Amino acid sequence: SNRTFTMIKPDAMKNGHAGAILDRIIKEGFRIVALKQTKLSAEKAGEFYAVHKERPFYGELVSFMSSGIIIAAILEKENAVASFRKLIGATNPAQAEEGTIRKLFATSLGENAVHGSDSDENAAIEGSFFFSGLEQF
Ligand code: ATP
Repeated sequence: SNRTFTMIKPDAMKNGHAGAILDRIIKEGFRIVALKQTKLSAEKAGEFYAVHKERPFYGELVSFMSSGIIIAAILEKENAVASFRKLIGATNPAQAEEGTIRKLFATSLGENAVHGSDSDENAAIEGSFFFSGLEQF
């Protein structure tokens, strides 16, 4: 598939980086298929990250992801999932390559500015968590 799903997380929103992050994504050749600003309830954040529910950081992750406004978007580009994960860099910004979105804008391992789907299958699941078919262009 040529689509991936992203969120600009509450830290990046609060720190005023949303515009710069979207600008970078567009300049890297991703087309915006769908986009919205929203806020996750703790329940919805828990559902989104259910795959991590046995991990020690799950509570912290759910609390952080429901702590403020986010932007959710579906993006399109050839090889979208891998290409986007390269653009955002390693989960831990301290290990992210120079020039990646997490290196530039993330706060910490937990508060790491952006999400990017890790497979085509999850990109489709995550995209439909936020957007109906009628909202995707
Ligand atoms: P994402 O799914 O957000 O794109 P990822 O695939 O790089 O991130 P995962 O290992 O799937 O990373 O972890 C999901 C999210 O959980 C991370 O982006 C980060 O916000 C948080 N997280 C991961 N590991 C830790 C940790 N050790 N402590 C706190 N938060 C963590």
